[in-house]
Amino acid sequence: MSRSEVCHELTTPAIRERKLTAVDYRCEFRPIIGEWDRKTGYPLGERCTATKGLQVHHRNYNHLGAECDEDLEVLCRRHHLVRHIVNSVCEVCGATLYSEDATLDLIEEHSDTPGLPTLDQIGLGPPGSDYPLLCWDCSDNLWGR
Ligand SMILES: [Zn+2]
Ligand SMILES: [Zn+2]
Ligand SMILES: [Zn+2]
Repeated sequence: MSRSEVCHELTTPAIRERKLTAVDYRCEFRPIIGEWDRKTGYPLGERCTATKGLQVHHRNYNHLGAECDEDLEVLCRRHHLVRHIVNSVCEVCGATLYSEDATLDLIEEHSDTPGLPTLDQIGLGPPGSDYPLLCWDCSDNLWGR
């Protein structure tokens, strides 16, 4: 089972159903379309129209098994993958590895994979695997240039 499937399975069917109903059985993803602005926050584009293959993503794990709607986000498979890539951080310093734009490019690079690539195929497998996830700086410090 992939990490995003684990994420989906973490909550109860009843809570999943409640959340799906609350968002009209449609992916909630809205792309960031501009630079971050302190006053307005991220300007967001049109909401994704996908209604098939929806998964329930955890924004946080604070209320496992008793999640409120705010803890969860309904996403199509592609956008669920986007969320998990964007959430990847350097295992040493905690820096964000991929912006949303970089993530969408990364998935595009693997577009020859049938369906969607897994996090392992992208090289973002579970923490502590053979190749730790590192930002460029930490990777330089650890392995040299
Ligand atoms: Zn998830
Ligand atoms: Zn979507
Ligand atoms: Zn780092």
